[in-house]
Amino acid sequence: MNTINTPRLEIDLDKIRHNTSGLIHRFQDLGISITGVTKASLGSPEIARAMLSGGVKAIGDSRIENIQRMKNAGINAPFILLRSPQISRVDDVVRFADISLNSELAVIEQLSAAAQRLGKRHRIILMVELGDLREGISPLDIDNFVDKCLKFSHLDIEGIGTNLTCFSGVKPDDRNMAKLGAIADRLQTRFGLNLVTISGGNSATLNWLFNTRSQIKFNNLRLGESILLGRETLYQESITDLHQDAITLVTSVIESQVKPSMPRGDMVKNAFGVKPVFEQRGDMLRCILDVGQQDVQLDGIQSLNPNISIVGASSDHLVVDASLSPLSVGSELKFSLNYAALLAAMTSPFVKRLYLGKTDP
Ligand SMILES: *Cc1c(COP(=O)(O)O)cnc(C)c1O
Repeated sequence: MNTINTPRLEIDLDKIRHNTSGLIHRFQDLGISITGVTKASLGSPEIARAMLSGGVKAIGDSRIENIQRMKNAGINAPFILLRSPQISRVDDVVRFADISLNSELAVIEQLSAAAQRLGKRHRIILMVELGDLREGISPLDIDNFVDKCLKFSHLDIEGIGTNLTCFSGVKPDDRNMAKLGAIADRLQTRFGLNLVTISGGNSATLNWLFNTRSQIKFNNLRLGESILLGRETLYQESITDLHQDAITLVTSVIESQVKPSMPRGDMVKNAFGVKPVFEQRGDMLRCILDVGQQDVQLDGIQSLNPNISIVGASSDHLVVDASLSPLSVGSELKFSLNYAALLAAMTSPFVKRLYLGKTDP
C-alpha cells in the first residue's frame, strides 16, 4: 500500500529552480529582473527558496499571511505585497512587506504613518492603469499623485508598474508598454526621481516580450505561472527549455468498475446546478478518483496518461474513463494542472504536498 497520501501535489523543486534560472538568463540581457511570485502556492517557503536559489532577488505575494509564513520559515529576501494594501492592515503591511503596490492616496498616507509608528521606512510601487481596469492610477492623474506622495515622510517611491490581462484580459502590446516607459521617463524628469523599478507585468507579458521588436522600457517582471508551470499566460504556450511538469496532482482510485457511459433515468440538474451531457460510448471502465470539485478545477486538469479521459466530477469524486488503460483500486493517476487548478489544489486543506528535489540551495 502507498504510504504517501492522495490526493497530493508533487512539487519538484529542482524543476522550479531550473525554470526560474531559465527565465532569469533569458531576460538578463534585456536588463529585466524577475520577482518570484508565490501566491499560487499559499506562500510556500520551499517554493520561495527554490525561486531564490534560481536567482530571483525578491519574492512577491498577494497576501500578508503568505509573506508572514515565508518570513517565519526564515526566508530572508525583500518581500513585495502584490495586492493593494487594505487600509485596516497598514501596520502589518509595513511590518512584513518591504515594498507594496499601491494606487490609493488614503492608503499611502496611512502606510507612511504606520512606518513612522514602527520606526521604519516603506517602499511603494505606484500602479498605473493601462486599460485592464483592475488596480491602477490613471496616466492623467499620476503626476499629481506623485507630487502628493513625495510629501509623506516615511515612504520611498521605488517605482511604477502595471498589471494587464488578469482582470479584463487586455493584452500587453507595443502601445501600452511604451506608455508605461513614457510615464516613467516623464516622472523622473519632472520630479527628479530615480525609479529603481519599472515593473512591466506578470506572465501575461511574456508572449509580447518574446515577439516584440520595440525597445523595452521596463526593468522588472513579476512572474508566478511561468516559473511554476513553464508556460506564458496568454496562449498557454510552453516556454522553450522550461519544465511544464514541475507540479503534478496525484490521485488514487477508490472504485474501478465497468458501467454504461449513459446514465439511466430522468435527468435533471446535478449538484452544481448544471445538466451534464454524456456521450454514448457503450460500457466503459469507470474509475472514481479521490479528488473533487472542492479540490480542483475540473477544466484545468489533464491526465498525464493520454488514454485516460475525464468524464465528470462532483464535490469529492472525479470519474475517468480508463477503458483503454485499466486502473485497479488503490493505483495512482497523475494530472497536469493549469494556474486556476493549481490555485484551487494548493488552497484545499485535503490536498497534501510532497516536495521532491533539493529543498535547500
Ligand atoms: C498574481 C500577480 C502576478 C503574477 O502573475 P502570474 O501570471 O502568475 O505571473 C504579478 N503581479 C500581480 C499584481 C499579481 O497579482
